[in-house]
Amino acid sequence: MRSDRTFTMIKPDAVANGYIGEILAAITKGGFRIAALKYTQISKKQAEVFYEVHKDRPFYGELTEFMSSGPIVAAILEKENAVADFRKLIGATNPAEAEEGTIRKQFAESMSKNAVHGSDSDENACIEGAFHFSGCEIF
Ligand code: ADP
Ligand code: MG
Repeated sequence: MRSDRTFTMIKPDAVANGYIGEILAAITKGGFRIAALKYTQISKKQAEVFYEVHKDRPFYGELTEFMSSGPIVAAILEKENAVADFRKLIGATNPAEAEEGTIRKQFAESMSKNAVHGSDSDENACIEGAFHFSGCEIF
C-alpha cells in the first residue's frame, strides 16, 4: 500500500461558501501535489456506502444527507507521509478545536459542516480514492 497518497473532498458547505480556490491553494501551499481532481455530487446511497464505518453513529443520517446535498470537489493528493500530514493541515474534526491556520479553522462552519474530508489511513485513502477515480483519471 503506498503511503504517499491521501484522498480528500471539499465538502458541500465549503463549495457553497465559495472556498474551492482558497482550499486548493492551501493544499498546494501545504506541499501536496494533485494527482486526481473532480467536481461532482454523490447520491445519498453513495454517501451511505462511503461513510459506512459510521453507520451506527447518531450523526450518520445527518452526515450522509449533508454530503449528498450539493456538489463537492474530490481529489487524490500526493506527498510523503500524505495521510498524517494532510490531517495536520486540515485540523480537528470540530473546527472550534482546530488549530490556527488549519483549513477547518479557516473555512469550516461546524462539526458536521467542516469544509473538508481527509482519509484516516493508507488503506482507507486507497479505498476512498478508488471510490471516485478510475486508474486512468489518476496522474
Ligand atoms: P474526520 O472527518 O475528522 O475524520 P470522523 O471520521 O470522526 O471525522 O467523522 C466523519 C465526519 O462526520 C466528520 O468530518 C463530520 O462531518 C461528521 N461528524 C463527526 N462527528 C460528528 C458529530 N458529533 N456531529 C455531527 N457530525 C459529525
Ligand atoms: Mg474520518
